[in-house]
Amino acid sequence: MLMQGKRGLIVGVANKRSIAWAIAQRCHEQGAELAFSYQSERLGENVKELTAEIPGSVLFQMDVSDDAQVKAGFDLLKSKWGKLDFLVHAVAYAPRQALEGDFVSTTREDFRVALDVSAYSLPVLAHGAKDLMAGGGSIIALSYLGSERVMPNYNVMGVAKAALESSVRYLASDLGPGGIRVNALSAGPIKTLASSGIGGFSTILDHHRNHAPLRKLVELEEVADGALFLLSDMGRGVTGQVLYVDGGYNIMAI
Ligand code: NAD
Repeated sequence: MLMQGKRGLIVGVANKRSIAWAIAQRCHEQGAELAFSYQSERLGENVKELTAEIPGSVLFQMDVSDDAQVKAGFDLLKSKWGKLDFLVHAVAYAPRQALEGDFVSTTREDFRVALDVSAYSLPVLAHGAKDLMAGGGSIIALSYLGSERVMPNYNVMGVAKAALESSVRYLASDLGPGGIRVNALSAGPIKTLASSGIGGFSTILDHHRNHAPLRKLVELEEVADGALFLLSDMGRGVTGQVLYVDGGYNIMAI
């Protein structure tokens, strides 16, 4: 029961295939109490259905690009719980046309939206969380290798993930003296709602399956176990890092 007595906010469950949902289930099995935020009322219906199996969960709507909704979310957690031990950031978005073709044609508006929702949301959520983490805490953000290497069609999302991983390091430095750890978990490619928006994603899956040292796709449960390590006291000596749960794909040149 690695998460017994811990309370955490999970941001980014859209449906049962969401990475955030796999992490939530693992944390729940290990004794955590959970709060879930959802982007929209429509996705809220899915989250309500899924979390029926986790009684006592706190649910609220929070679009991470809306400061007022973020503030309201943390105010609610403050009044319900008064403290927070961990936060899972599993949020990314770029307009579909920015995730196909060449990067050089990315519009200013698509760049702004992608960076706002997928990267700036981390410092915003960390700012809201830190006041509730007086006794220390652990924050993780989901990333992808496209932050460092050029992946076909990943384009502006790669730039956003680079900003996200850099934000992890600055936040780790800011919040470390207060006992709050901040890390990224770089997952291998998995079929989800978000990844279905990336042009030619099945080619990325095939390449991973054929070339990753472990010669298979990453499973949701493997990502969830990596998250559990970082979120629990098992990871107490680790901050400002990127943990790759990608079957070793990141070490390969071809
Ligand atoms: P997903 O579609 O299940 O989750 C993405 C979530 O982002 C959704 O819940 C969506 O509601 C939320 N979101 C988007 N815009 C938002 C906004 N403005 N406000 C609040 N929430 C918003 O897909 P996923 O693949 O589970 O994605 C979760 C995270 O994992 C993302 O950061 C993604 O980049 C990352 N990731 C995914 C893969 C993959 O191959 N699927 C690999 C590595 C990293």
